[in-house]
Amino acid sequence: MIMSYLVLARKYRPQTFEQVVSQKHVTRTLGNAISSGKVAHALLFSGPRGTGKTTVARILAKAMNCKSGPIPVPCNECSLCIEISSGNAADVFEIDGASNNGVEQIRELRENIRYMPVHSLYKIYIIDEVHMLSIAAFNALLKTLEEPPPHVMFVFATTEPDKIPVTILSRCQRHDFRRIESKSIAKQMKLICSKENISITEESLWLIAREADGSMRDALSLLDQVIICSEGPITGERILDILGLVDRKIIFDISNAVLSGNIAEIIDILNKIYNRGYDMKKLHANLMEHFRNLFIVKIGKKVSELVDFPDLEINLMIEQTKEISAAYINQILLLLAEESELLRFDSQPKLALEMMFIKMFQIKPVLPIDLLIEKLDSMKQEISETGVKSAPVVNADPACPEIRCDTQKDEKNVQTVSKKSVGPLETENQPDSSALDKGENLDLTWKKITGIISKKYPSLASNLARSRLINLAEKRMDIEVNGSDFNLKMIKRNKNISILKNICSQFFGNDFDIVINAKIKSSFDNQQKKTEENKIKQKALNHPLVADSIEIFNGTVVSVKILQEEIK
Ligand SMILES: [Zn+2]
Repeated sequence: MIMSYLVLARKYRPQTFEQVVSQKHVTRTLGNAISSGKVAHALLFSGPRGTGKTTVARILAKAMNCKSGPIPVPCNECSLCIEISSGNAADVFEIDGASNNGVEQIRELRENIRYMPVHSLYKIYIIDEVHMLSIAAFNALLKTLEEPPPHVMFVFATTEPDKIPVTILSRCQRHDFRRIESKSIAKQMKLICSKENISITEESLWLIAREADGSMRDALSLLDQVIICSEGPITGERILDILGLVDRKIIFDISNAVLSGNIAEIIDILNKIYNRGYDMKKLHANLMEHFRNLFIVKIGKKVSELVDFPDLEINLMIEQTKEISAAYINQILLLLAEESELLRFDSQPKLALEMMFIKMFQIKPVLPIDLLIEKLDSMKQEISETGVKSAPVVNADPACPEIRCDTQKDEKNVQTVSKKSVGPLETENQPDSSALDKGENLDLTWKKITGIISKKYPSLASNLARSRLINLAEKRMDIEVNGSDFNLKMIKRNKNISILKNICSQFFGNDFDIVINAKIKSSFDNQQKKTEENKIKQKALNHPLVADSIEIFNGTVVSVKILQEEIK
């Protein structure tokens, strides 16, 4: 049995301007020019490969030479249209600029031009990759372009318009073709697959579309390849296999590990995918793209326009960047860019990647600052909410005991303070001391537990920064979370609850049910003021001068003080 297979790019080549994907700005202009009889004699189509330049040139040739033309929508049925579609038209010449780039060929062309077309209205010359012509050939061509015979049209196509002499450019009407978005490529492939009765997942379509990098022709030939190699439904896994692509999940896993500071996890993933035969340089390129997308998602402007990924993945990116600052992503991005040059010439790309990640963990001043802000906030809140906490500090200065009395108007509080005046150190050593009321006891206990958590799980600890232990029964503990919705959501994750349970059971020696309560936020004004203050703090910490100082002096930020006139 002889299998005949017409490649998809040919089978589904657009036959009208309407069918061309993503180049409306070009096809509409051409359609209007044809309608009004004002088509230029020399046109230049520039743009990336596989974006439809020669396809549009052919449609234009049909539109001009169709028996019922010139007409914006060629009939595609008359003998002239059919001849052009099959590449056999007597008056339409498709010339490859790369192989016919000498002055001889152009002279021949000029001779030929003098004769009238055989069957149609125009002699149309489509010269592909026109930038490949030699200087002499361009000069010969220029003479024709200066005084083109009325029955002749030139359509030049190029991926590199910069290489075309200005004298030629100035005599052409230029149309720039756009790189096709993955979205549009995926959509077109979906249409084709449904016509071909091919079952393929959405994920697969996106994988191919992204690999094609803006070229419809490349996308369709990848799709050909996948169809030929597959039996049954086409899945993402199969595509990764056939095309040797890096799984998107791996990109998310690695970036998660980067953002949570888990170097062991990264080295483990690198090892696994290296053994599976993935291209490490490609992985690096994918990571760069990913962090670039995270940066845009974090900034949050024109996301759907600038991040050419399915909504599902954009949502995952939003989730991934919630806890980190744009400045930190930017730092990672800079390091990735710095290493890309080195990686290109490295004979051991896996090792180079590992080194890069290790470097990444050595310089990450922005993340700790983020946590620092959290801590500053929680400290401030503790001070403002439980006046008691600040008392030992005031008391530590025995020279001015009056201040303590002045600030603590509440009778009961003053009493508590005076009992605690033995000093904070001693108090901490005796958490069970009867001098402390139950509330304080809980606070101290909770402080110790969160202390343990922050050593092992800094990210969970930062989410717990504004939490309190409000009830401790035999088998149940109630934790009050007083942060953002996000903090609450993070803490409530199964993984985090089980970490909490583990640490508490180790701490107390018995198991607890942990109940998380959300505290209703204080008044709106307070909240707004806090947000405003946070913004100012973040701005100060992100200031290049501050970042540089931290790096130069290898220092840490102790506190950020806000002058009152700034909060307005
Ligand atoms: Zn026709």
